[in-house]
Amino acid sequence: RTVYVNGEYLPENEAKISIFDRGFLMADGVYEVTSVLDGKLIDFDGHSKRLERSLNELDMPHPAVLPDLLEVHRELVRLNGIEEGMIYLQITRGAPGDRDFVFPDPETTAPTVVLFTQNKPGLADSPAAKKGIKVISIEDARWARRDIKTVQLLYPSMGKMMAKAAGVDDAWMVEDGFVTEGTSNNAYIVKGNTIITRHLGNEILHGITRAAVLRFAREAQMQVEERSFTIDEAKDADEAFITSASTFVMPVVEIDGAQVGEGTPGSVATRLREIYLDESRKAAV
Ligand code: PMP
Repeated sequence: RTVYVNGEYLPENEAKISIFDRGFLMADGVYEVTSVLDGKLIDFDGHSKRLERSLNELDMPHPAVLPDLLEVHRELVRLNGIEEGMIYLQITRGAPGDRDFVFPDPETTAPTVVLFTQNKPGLADSPAAKKGIKVISIEDARWARRDIKTVQLLYPSMGKMMAKAAGVDDAWMVEDGFVTEGTSNNAYIVKGNTIITRHLGNEILHGITRAAVLRFAREAQMQVEERSFTIDEAKDADEAFITSASTFVMPVVEIDGAQVGEGTPGSVATRLREIYLDESRKAAV
């Protein structure tokens, strides 16, 4: 695989970053994952806007390459022959000469920019989407700025391990009695013709897929309520689903061992997945 590091395209085993990189030492970095369908980028514009916001929220200098990121994405897709898959992009505050809590001077320490592709044939035609996934609920023990897409993924990673240990696919996180989001996705329930998902705030990541799916839902005359919901309300819902750049719209058929609706992918989730895939493919760059 060819990867991108600070202006260079290299074989993955030749790519190097400093041991003093603040991404490595302090999780002082942000990232984006953009999916690729038909060799094209899905919602690149949304991901680049959120990236800029993450950089701003952390007072991180914008790398000089920022305006050309679309070209870098396209070049990596081309070099690796990706038809379906993902592109991972990470920007950290760079590598000062030593470990220090204080941010380095941006004049002397440039951000580190890394991109790599993940080839995932069959991403859109996923067997999981036909079956639906099972989730458990866990405490949300992350930091309070989940709206910033930082590389601080230890707790979500532990959450996936808790799900695995429970024999299910993923976990929904709960804070003060209300669902925040999935470990790496936004969470939704459906009651009748109404789609319910938590309102935006610092408690959740502002999903790029979430924004697109809610827009398509409203255009299709579905009702949308952006508000908090509990696990009890979710267990009692007609349907549940998640969204993310890499899963698109994925039905949830079981929560904490309780079947949701009929225990099969619901019609709203199934329809939204179709609309999302169709519209995103049309708008892909
Ligand atoms: N919430 C969290 C915690 C996530 O990690 C992700 C995906 N990275 C999402 C939501 C979904 O965001 P997006 O639709 O932009 O992939």
